Amino acid sequence: PLKIPASVRELLSLLTKNGFQAFVVGGCVRDSLLGGSPNDWDICTSALPSETLQVFTGYKTLTHGLKHGTVTVVSAGRLYEITTFRRETTYSDFRRPDEVQFITDIHQDLSRRDITINAMAYNPMEGLIDDHHGLQDLRARRICCVGNPQTRFQEDALRILRVLRFASTLNFGIEQQTGSAVLACRRLLSHISAERLNNELQKLLTGDGAVKICTEFSAVFSVFIPMTDAMKRGWALCAPLLSHLPKDLTSRLLFMLGGIHDSTLIPDSIGLEKALNELRFEKRQVRELLQLAALMPTDLTASNFKTILAQIGAPQFYRLLTVKESCLHLMPLERQATERQALLILRGEAAAFLHNPNACYQLRQLAVSGRDLLSAGVPAGPEIGWTLRQLLALVIAGKRSNTREDLLEALHELKQARR
Ligand code: ATP
Ligand code: MG
Repeated sequence: PLKIPASVRELLSLLTKNGFQAFVVGGCVRDSLLGGSPNDWDICTSALPSETLQVFTGYKTLTHGLKHGTVTVVSAGRLYEITTFRRETTYSDFRRPDEVQFITDIHQDLSRRDITINAMAYNPMEGLIDDHHGLQDLRARRICCVGNPQTRFQEDALRILRVLRFASTLNFGIEQQTGSAVLACRRLLSHISAERLNNELQKLLTGDGAVKICTEFSAVFSVFIPMTDAMKRGWALCAPLLSHLPKDLTSRLLFMLGGIHDSTLIPDSIGLEKALNELRFEKRQVRELLQLAALMPTDLTASNFKTILAQIGAPQFYRLLTVKESCLHLMPLERQATERQALLILRGEAAAFLHNPNACYQLRQLAVSGRDLLSAGVPAGPEIGWTLRQLLALVIAGKRSNTREDLLEALHELKQARR
């Protein structure tokens, strides 16, 4: 029997007491069978949305998903989606069913689902409903479409990317017919909105199996990522190195969408920005990526690393270091050892510097504040910020120590220099 939280069992039994069928379904069944603990528990039921609402009158409910058959029930501060068994009718645009029909048969609901391991349902009374051998595929660590893969991809092309996403996150293989259909149907992905693609792509790139998927199925990605030739070469060369990067989306994106020049990753910033914007990545993410891309050609040294750290902050600095370390694998073997040694020393110096309680690489760590400068006679306005930055630069360069006296003396010199 599957371990289901008490709160979920309560929702199931409330529906069955009212004469409806109800099961937990999809990702939560898959993840529990794998021994994990699912983030969310989805329920499917024979009750129509209006009937579900009546059953849960005692609960707070949300109805934004009503037209797809989903009622969201709030229980003990958590959200549960309860969706009426559905069948999807004809598809005419490779993405959405023309119409959703509510049905009372769980088996038909399961057969519209994308892959076998996502097409299992369970409740404590009836046990596991597994019409499509999902359990067998879970044990064999295999992604396999429900039904004929080509047909399923023509109905909704996003499933192509979902197959690759689950193969990556679960680190599973792909059943042979499903794999061939992924390649054969890949061009259909051009019909899918950037938002839907983005969501799957993010999960795919940070998955354990990303190396294999990005190498074996590179042709799929060029369908929906606008890549220049340098970026395509970069993708092919970098994919095998993904496993050296942490599961951090920013570094993985930089790595995969960078361009390769002279065996180092020198991202084509214009191409990168275009690709990221077309894929609707968040503004902050794009900004961070372009910042790193701009710094890729700069050699990190003992004398410049504090300035760069000050400019981009510690998390970005460590990303930069990691990406640079991974790029070593692109270099000729004889150069790798010395370059690796240099980066390792730098990483040590950066860590020592950052952990020093007196470290100063940000304005707010300076021993003087804007207010101090005002009292010292610097006029209010932009000159305050400018002066603070000058002082920080002196500290970072080791020309001044970060103490009040030293900085006020430096301020005096700055004022005289400006006169
Ligand atoms: P995750 O843990 O990543 O959320 P999940 O299995 O819950 O995984 P969702 O994208 O939340 O994945 O979808 C929920 C369920 O809906 C899936 O398990 C699958 O049964 C079904 N499903 C989702 N998208 C599709 C699709 N495009 N085509 C067919 N079935 C789908
Ligand atoms: Mg889910």
